[in-house]
Amino acid sequence: MKAASRLALWRHTAPAGPSLTQLQGDVDTDVLVIGGGIAGMSTALHLAEAGVAVVVVEAGEPGSAATGQSGGLIAPDYIRHTPDSIAAQFGPEAGERLTAMLGRSAQHCFDLIARHDIDCDARQDGFYTPVHQHDLAEQQRRVAGQWQSRGFDVSFVEQAGAEDALGTDAYRGALRFGQGGSINPLAYVRGLTEAAMAAGAYVYRDTAVRDLSRAADGRWHARAAGGSVRASRVVLAANGGNAGLHRAMRRAALPLNVVEFATTPLPAALRDRILPHGGAFTDKSSYIFSARYDGDGRLISAFPRTWCVRGPRAYHKEARRRLTKHFPALHGVEIESLWEGIAWINTSFLPEVYDLGDGAVAIQACNGRGISTNTVIGAELAAALAGDDLSALSVSVRSPAAIPFYPLAARSPELMMTLAYLAD
Ligand SMILES: Cc1cc2nc3c(=O)[nH]c(=O)nc-3n(C[C@H](O)[C@H](O)[C@H](O)COP(=O)(O)OP(=O)(O)OC[C@H]3O[C@@H](n4cnc5c(N)ncnc54)[C@H](O)[C@@H]3O)c2cc1C
Repeated sequence: MKAASRLALWRHTAPAGPSLTQLQGDVDTDVLVIGGGIAGMSTALHLAEAGVAVVVVEAGEPGSAATGQSGGLIAPDYIRHTPDSIAAQFGPEAGERLTAMLGRSAQHCFDLIARHDIDCDARQDGFYTPVHQHDLAEQQRRVAGQWQSRGFDVSFVEQAGAEDALGTDAYRGALRFGQGGSINPLAYVRGLTEAAMAAGAYVYRDTAVRDLSRAADGRWHARAAGGSVRASRVVLAANGGNAGLHRAMRRAALPLNVVEFATTPLPAALRDRILPHGGAFTDKSSYIFSARYDGDGRLISAFPRTWCVRGPRAYHKEARRRLTKHFPALHGVEIESLWEGIAWINTSFLPEVYDLGDGAVAIQACNGRGISTNTVIGAELAAALAGDDLSALSVSVRSPAAIPFYPLAARSPELMMTLAYLAD
C-alpha cells in the first residue's frame, strides 16, 4: 500500500495557475485586497471588471489556505438556519436578501466558471443534506417548502430516493439543492486569478502583509517583506489571517480543524453503487460526513479533527472507519491523499462582512461552507466599493464583535466535535 500524499488532492490535479511574482518595491492603488482565496480573488476580479484599480497580495499562492484545502462542494444552504428563521431574525427585507444571495450562490459560481471558461472539474449535479432521524426528515421536508416558496430548486428526497441517490441506507431522507454540485477548488481560484489579471488586477504571491496601518495622508499602507502597497481602500480577505491585520478582527472567528481525504479512483462497479448518479452531500449529523467524486472517480470525504483522533496514522484509520461505516463496500479501499485545513467559523454561522471604518472592510465568511457564498460576496462587495455604497450588499454589514473568553472559545469547536465523535 502506497503512503498517502499529505498535500491536498487538488495540488496534484489542478491545472497550473498564472505565473506570479512576489511584490518588490512600493506600489499605489485604489483598492488593496489582502488574501488570494475565493473571497479575495472574486472581489479583485469584479473590481477589475468594474474598472477599479486593484492589487491583491497573497501570503502564499492563491488558494493556499482554506480554499485549496476544501472539499470543493458547492453547497447553497444555511448551516444552522433556514430561510424562515433568517427572515424572523433579520426582518423580512434583510432576511430575504440574505436568503436570495445564498440561494443563488451556486448558480452564480457555475455561471462565473462558464463565463471565464475555468477548467475546474465543475459538476452541477446536485447537493444533498441527508438526515438520520425521522423528526429531522420532517423538519427538512418543511425547509424544502421554504426554499421552494422563494423560487429555488430545492426538494425533499424521501428515504428510498436518498438511498438510491447516495448509495447508503443510513438516511431517512435528504434535501436536494438542484443548483449545487462540486468543483476542484484550487483550479477554480487559479482560474479566478487568471481572469482577474486579464481584467487588469495585479496579483502578488509570497507577499504576506506584516503590518497594515493608516499613513499620515489617511491612506492605507500595507508592508510586506519585499515592498509595500498604498491604497485608498482595503479589503481584508485573509480569513484566519484577518486576525493579524486589524485589531478589531483579532477575536472574530473560531478555528475548526478539518481532515479531508480522497481515495484512489474507484472501479466502475463501486461507483455504480456509491453516489451512482453523481452529486455531493454533507449530512446534518454533528460529526459531519460528506462525500463527492472528482473527475477521475476518487471519492472525497472529510471529518472534523477531535481530541481523540490525532496524527496521520489515526487519521487514516478514522478515514477508513468513516467510509466503511457509510459504504461497507469500500472495505480495504486505499486513501490516496489526506490533508488538513482550518475552517474559520463565525459564531453566527453566517457569512459576515465587517466595516472597519476609514475605507477598510473585512470578509469573514469561511464557516467551512464558503466556496459559493464567498464568490457572491466578492462580486457584491466589488459592486458596493465601485458604487461607494456598502448597504448594497445582501449581507448586513456590521462592526465585528470580539468573541468573549476567546482563548477558551477557540477550543470549543474541537471540543464539540470530540463530543460528537464519541457519540458517533
Ligand atoms: C478542510 C476544509 C474543507 C472545506 N470544504 C468546503 C466545501 O466542501 N464547500 C464549501 O463551500 N466550503 C468548504 N470549506 C470552506 C471554504 O474553503 C472557505 O469558506 C473558503 O475557501 C474561504 O475563502 P477565503 O478566501 O475567505 O479564505 P482562504 O481561502 O483561507 O483565503 C485567505 C487567504 O489569505 C491569505 N493570507 C492570510 N494572511 C495573510 C496576510 N497577512 N497577507 C497576505 N495574505 C494572507 C492566505 O494565505 C489565504 O490564501 C472548507 C474549508 C476547509 C478548511
